[in-house]
Amino acid sequence: MGDARPVVVLGAGVAGMVAALSVAPWPCVLVSPEAPGRGGSTELAQGGLAAAVGAGDRPADHAADTLAAGAGLCDAATVDRIVGAGPEVVALLADLGVAWDRAAGEEVEGREPAADPAPWALGREGGHGRHRVVHAGDRSGAVIAAALADAVAAAGHVTHLAGEATGLLTGEDRVTDVRVRTATGERDLAAAAVVLATGGFAGLFRDSTNPATNAGAGIVLAARAGAVLGDLEFVQFHPTALDLTDTPVGRSETAAGRPPAGRLPLLTEALRGDGAVLRADGQRFVGEVAPRDVVAAAVHAQRLAGRRVELDCRGVRGLEEFTALAATAAAVGLDPRRDPLPVCPAAHYTVGGVLSDARGRTTVPGLWAVGEVACTGLHGANRLASNSLLEGVVTARAAAADVLSAAGEPAESAAQSADLAGTWHDGWRSPVGAERTITADAAEAALATERLLGDGPARDPLVGELLSTAAGVARRRDEVHRALTALEGRPGPDALVARLVLRSALRRERSVGGHRWVEEQGRPTHRAGAVA
Ligand SMILES: Cc1cc2nc3c(=O)[nH]c(=O)nc-3n(C[C@H](O)[C@H](O)[C@H](O)COP(=O)(O)OP(=O)(O)OC[C@H]3O[C@@H](n4cnc5c(N)ncnc54)[C@H](O)[C@@H]3O)c2cc1C
Repeated sequence: MGDARPVVVLGAGVAGMVAALSVAPWPCVLVSPEAPGRGGSTELAQGGLAAAVGAGDRPADHAADTLAAGAGLCDAATVDRIVGAGPEVVALLADLGVAWDRAAGEEVEGREPAADPAPWALGREGGHGRHRVVHAGDRSGAVIAAALADAVAAAGHVTHLAGEATGLLTGEDRVTDVRVRTATGERDLAAAAVVLATGGFAGLFRDSTNPATNAGAGIVLAARAGAVLGDLEFVQFHPTALDLTDTPVGRSETAAGRPPAGRLPLLTEALRGDGAVLRADGQRFVGEVAPRDVVAAAVHAQRLAGRRVELDCRGVRGLEEFTALAATAAAVGLDPRRDPLPVCPAAHYTVGGVLSDARGRTTVPGLWAVGEVACTGLHGANRLASNSLLEGVVTARAAAADVLSAAGEPAESAAQSADLAGTWHDGWRSPVGAERTITADAAEAALATERLLGDGPARDPLVGELLSTAAGVARRRDEVHRALTALEGRPGPDALVARLVLRSALRRERSVGGHRWVEEQGRPTHRAGAVA
């Protein structure tokens, strides 16, 4: 392939690694700050991947549940395309070495006892009408990440570059280069195609299940290149993050003046699917397998009313198989076999992102977006549990196929690039209506020129506070206005993402899915956990 420009993939979670693997035989540079599979949300995923693989299940049923969770705002064609690929994705990942759990107990819906080998064990999560989630214990994401990282390491066409993308350079009416910061300095990589796979921005919120590095770097990169974004107001809050400040270890840390900071561990929804019960001051208050936005709002309301919310896992079938849970609880002085676990809602998944069509094409020629950074229309106003790992694989494969057909043969890349800009929008179809989209203006984009990624302390703490307060589970217009005023003219990438989210929220008049207005006067004034 001589000196052909590579395909450059930014981000090495499930979406980035699948994209990198799927662009073969093109040479590919996979850029991420940590080793492939490390650092984003993928390795943290617990519940698994949703697919209609159970006996009697159908992609049409999976689609119906996805549409219902999305509250009427999903793009039906995208839903059919992505959930329809579910069974194929399960098999593909199994071929790559993902050891999905197999069914053993009679009580598992969808089991075909006569089949050999045993069918996949299926978990049930909120919003799914049946057991539908394939998993590898409660470490599904880590197992998927490890299998894909092994495949990437063995793939001759992929080179990993440890670094972070800090800018997209445009020319010839398309993205031509990526600016990357590595340990040895900054440099520009010429690219035949650029695939954004940098994950979401839930890590910007003060109360979050995501690492702080999930800060919307891809949104900033794309916005500065002029890309159209969509659905940014729809943020999914997980109802059952472990409330670290209300654990034995957390309380003693707080008493010693060191309140716990950073990511809140997730207590997987599969626990509720398998019998865990939510109580506020000892009373049940919500259906445990209702859609996430419903459960998160109910938990939030109980906490606003001053009640302590706990997840009681003592009745969970097969509790001993939740090994990640046991380790998480033990680290804070709790034992799920004995102790109800204190919980709070936390920002978990960002539905919106960089607008992309069925081929992964953004509105900017030469730039594709896949995985959580993309706005594909799959989730509508709210994501159905465990649909995002699936979306990551399907969108990455679609984008890679389009890169291969659009970019031509590696040796022809220079000539092909001129055509790419000219034909880019042929057949382009937005997955969401224009009223759901937003762009950054030039002045606003210019404010975001400093460091994109960073370790925890490098995040803008004001942004975390304002997002959790004004754009949290339950939103109030006056707080959104106040937050926007506080962020006006504030430099840095975090503030840019926050302003776009808050402006998107204000435009949406009615509560729907992951965007909920409240009229109540009360609101939490402190970090999760300080409820007596
Ligand atoms: C605790 C938790 C549990 C979850 N459980 C499930 C589940 O059971 N099922 C499910 O379907 N979904 C689950 N999700 C959501 C799911 O994990 C994510 O939506 C999905 O993994 C996103 O994959 P991704 O490849 O798009 O991004 P990520 O996996 O987040 O990867 C992003 C990558 O981009 C890199 N990056 C960021 N900025 C830059 C930059 N400037 N330059 C270069 N690289 C950059 C990161 O380092 C990382 O490599 C869960 C999420 C969390 C947080």
